Amino acid sequence: MRDIATIRDEFPILQRTVNGKPLVYLDSAASSQKPQCVLDAIQNGYGQSYSNVHRGLHTLSEEATDAYEALRGKVATLINAPSQDEVIITSGATMSLNLIAQSWGRAHLQAGDEVLITVAEHHANIVPWQLLAMEKQIKLVAAPMEADGSFDLQTFKNYISPRTKLISVPHVSNVLGTVYPVAEITALAHEAGAICIVDGCQGVVHMPVDVQAIDCDFYVFSGHKLYGPSGVGVCWGKMAILQDMPPFMGGGDMIDDVEIGMSTFAAPPVRFEAGTPPIVEAIGLAAAIDFVLDIGMDVIRAHEADIIKYAHQRLAAVEGLNFIGTAAGKSGVVSFTLDAAHPHDISTLIDQDGVAIRAGHHCAQPLMKFYGLNSTARASVGIYSQRSDFDALAEALEKVNRIFSA
Ligand code: PMP
Repeated sequence: MRDIATIRDEFPILQRTVNGKPLVYLDSAASSQKPQCVLDAIQNGYGQSYSNVHRGLHTLSEEATDAYEALRGKVATLINAPSQDEVIITSGATMSLNLIAQSWGRAHLQAGDEVLITVAEHHANIVPWQLLAMEKQIKLVAAPMEADGSFDLQTFKNYISPRTKLISVPHVSNVLGTVYPVAEITALAHEAGAICIVDGCQGVVHMPVDVQAIDCDFYVFSGHKLYGPSGVGVCWGKMAILQDMPPFMGGGDMIDDVEIGMSTFAAPPVRFEAGTPPIVEAIGLAAAIDFVLDIGMDVIRAHEADIIKYAHQRLAAVEGLNFIGTAAGKSGVVSFTLDAAHPHDISTLIDQDGVAIRAGHHCAQPLMKFYGLNSTARASVGIYSQRSDFDALAEALEKVNRIFSA
């Protein structure tokens, strides 16, 4: 493996200072930074091979189409999908989940059916189901988490009923870092006759993913958290399920034949990609996938596990710091509160020391309410994170403690 210093050198932004201090970037769960190869792919995409895709018969359009289409194969390799035709390119995980709700959900869910999630969902895995519930009178059920942030399969099982038709869970919680047993959850879903969606936003960035081993029906994620550009994401689904889904948006590209009276539609995945897609964003994401596969997802997982373990040891020494989420094997994020200061004040103050963390409800308001909080501070890691980032965070938090005790 390239050592961590070499990998860090590939991220130009990590060389900059913030408020006169070296940047300590601990906000990768919100969005990761981009390596030079992704910046080059974007530059090249616009600077050398740019045109609209699919409809052109000239060289630039063919080059852009090939580069755009190449993303499907890269995604299939990354998540071990059986076919690249199962990879729908979207604008991000939020669109992917809305696509499933509006297409599969609208076609297959009836009044009285239940959609099962957990209280730890990102709003992107709550609100699309509520919008559908307003239209179809389906019921949204949320299973609880344990006090320490862990997920208990036995407890979850109690929330599955004969009316459960869809289960949708995160691979990894964006607040707690809890890694969900997604293969076991999928098995329970299938036993109950339901389909299972895995929101892989915080999963695919931190660990190897094998959708065939998980056996889930959909796996969704966003490009910008995986070292790629914003505005592009993935909705992977099993082909038999995709074939049985109506279009979600109408427009160019997604059709087979159009009459004024009615149209016929293209096969998946193009059926779900109406209009000009995020062309250069997809090219950038393809470069990002090459980047992580070249390092190796196993290597990324091991490196980040070391950082997360160190983070807990180091931050435990900060007076008045309370961890929110300490499940065994957690990944990617460390959420906490500090007795002395509100999370927003913490984030603003430590920014003076160049330390970037996130503070707020992290688009998980039901989880905040579940734990009786309105916000947490959250430090999150990526492949470029290093132990010294958490030394800097701990020192900055000790400074916050001193300011508030003065
Ligand atoms: N699910 C999870 C678990 C997330 O962390 C996020 C992003 N914070 C999303 C969904 C939504 O992703 P996006 O805003 O990129 O669509």
